[in-house]
Amino acid sequence: MQIVHPGILQVRTPALNFYVLRDEEGLYVIDGGFVGGVRMLQNTLRQHGWNDLPIRGILVTHGHLDHIFNVAYLAKTTGAWIAATRLDALHYAGKPHYEGNSRVTGWLEATGRFALGYQRFQPDRWLDDGDRIEILSGIKTVHLPGHTQGHMGFLLEKERLLFTADLFVSYRAGGRLPLEIFNNDSAENVRSIGKALGLKPAGVLPNHGSDAPPDVHLQRMERLFERVKCAGHEDYS
Ligand SMILES: [Zn+2]
Repeated sequence: MQIVHPGILQVRTPALNFYVLRDEEGLYVIDGGFVGGVRMLQNTLRQHGWNDLPIRGILVTHGHLDHIFNVAYLAKTTGAWIAATRLDALHYAGKPHYEGNSRVTGWLEATGRFALGYQRFQPDRWLDDGDRIEILSGIKTVHLPGHTQGHMGFLLEKERLLFTADLFVSYRAGGRLPLEIFNNDSAENVRSIGKALGLKPAGVLPNHGSDAPPDVHLQRMERLFERVKCAGHEDYS
């Protein structure tokens, strides 16, 4: 629960952290958190005196249940629009398709959707690589596939801050790749880390990690990329 940058709040929950952005028009949520996420969002907004500001939009990085669980509820209760990465459409509809090792994630999510009462949603706007979203100083979408097919980063253009979603996880011990069972294509995910670093961000903001500042997360991602490159199991060019 903290301000990670002027105009950016991080909502910390046990399952994952998600973000709230603010401009003159109101607030924008990047992913909606998992069970308990709405309450933590409300607490965090109240703590920072943002609770009277309207939530105008919800941006969705990818279709995993811990990121989209509250999206329908938040949109319904606030009137916010939903902009979501196009290639994860089946996830929003509650019928994702998983192959290989990631079928484990499919089983886990199917159980979760049933037990927790997942609400489907239809985005108001479909996002593709290189789209521009006219909020704050402008956000550019960056397709970073591998974790899921549609996995999308959001680059705050002026500040050069990149929301990296689940491209990697970032804890005190360092950066790690997401577990294989959570990835659609792990090698592609590593190539996407290279793509993200190629954008020369000033800092990155992952959804799973410690409360370190964006530049520290970036250092962890850089070191991780060096390590996996040295492991030599892919052509990352
Ligand atoms: Zn994920």
